[in-house]
Amino acid sequence: MKQLQTEYFTFTEIGGVGEMIYRAVRFPEYVPEYNHASKEDEIKPLFSFLGRPISGTDYSITGQELLASLCNLYKKINAPDSDERVTDLVWDWCRNHIHPYDIDVLCDEIENGDFVNAEFHEWLQRRATFEVRGFVSDVCKLGTAFEYYDALQKIRCSRDVSAGRGLYYEGRICDSLPFLEKYRQFADDTEYLRRVNADYDNRLFDLLEMFPDFKMRVKQDRKTHKAEMCAEIHSVFNIAWYAFARMVADVAPPADTDLDYMFSQGSILICMACGEYFVRHSSRQRYCDNPACKAERNNRKARAYYKRKNAGEK
Ligand SMILES: [Zn+2]
Repeated sequence: MKQLQTEYFTFTEIGGVGEMIYRAVRFPEYVPEYNHASKEDEIKPLFSFLGRPISGTDYSITGQELLASLCNLYKKINAPDSDERVTDLVWDWCRNHIHPYDIDVLCDEIENGDFVNAEFHEWLQRRATFEVRGFVSDVCKLGTAFEYYDALQKIRCSRDVSAGRGLYYEGRICDSLPFLEKYRQFADDTEYLRRVNADYDNRLFDLLEMFPDFKMRVKQDRKTHKAEMCAEIHSVFNIAWYAFARMVADVAPPADTDLDYMFSQGSILICMACGEYFVRHSSRQRYCDNPACKAERNNRKARAYYKRKNAGEK
C-alpha cells in the first residue's frame, strides 16, 4: 500500500487513501514505578545525555500497525484467565513500540532540548511519565470498539455468525460490547444473519458513536511555512483512532460487497496460527509476519500437500 509521510494530519490525510507515517518519540528505556502520593502505578522513561530519546518521523510502524498492536495488547490485558501483571504488559508495550502520550509536545521539546541541563532532564522525565490506569482505560476503549467492528465485519462479509455470538465476554478489566447479545436468541444461522443485516445501520451507528471527536486546529507546517488545518495528536490512541476511522470509512462495504475492494484497503485480520491481529499486505495472507507463524503456515501447506498426494495415489 502507498505510504504517505506526514508531519501533521490534515483533512486530506484523515480522509484520504494510503497509510500514514507520523511523528513519534522513543525513549531508550522505561521503568515501572509505584507512586506513593497518587497510589498509582506509573511508567517512567529513562534517558541520559548519551542515551537520548529519539523524535521525528517514524517509518517503522504505520497507523494501522499501531492500531493492531494496541488491540493485541488489549486482548492480552483483558483476557479473563490472564495472570500477567497489567503494569508489566503496558511496560513491555512501551519498550517495544513508541512513547504513547504527549507526542507533539515531546517531539518539539526533544528536538530543541538542552540535555546537559539537569533541570530540563528532570522536567522531560516528569512530563513523559504516565499512569498505567489511564493507558489501560484508553486501550480498553479502543480494543472493545475494534473487537465489535471486527465481529460486524465478519458477520457482514464472511457470514461468520460465531464471531457475533462470541463477541460478548466478561474480561479481566472490562466487559466486551453487548450490542449483539439481543441476536443470541436466534439459534438458526440464517435467521441470525437476516436479523443483524436488517439492523446493520443501527449497529454501525453504535460503533461510530464510540469514536472520539477529532479535534482540528490551524497549525503552521514548519517545512512549507503554510498554515494548515491539522488534527491534534496527543497520543498513540489519537493515531490509532484516526487509522481506525479511515478503515471504517474506506472499508464500509458497498451495497454489493466486493471482497477485492476490501482487501485492497489493507485490512486487519486475525492470524490463523497465533490469533493476534495483523495488517494484511496481500489479499491471500492469512498469517502474521511472525517467523513462527510463517513456519506454521508452511507446515500446514506441506501437510495438506501430502494429504492430497496420498489421497490421489490410493
Ligand atoms: Zn501469528
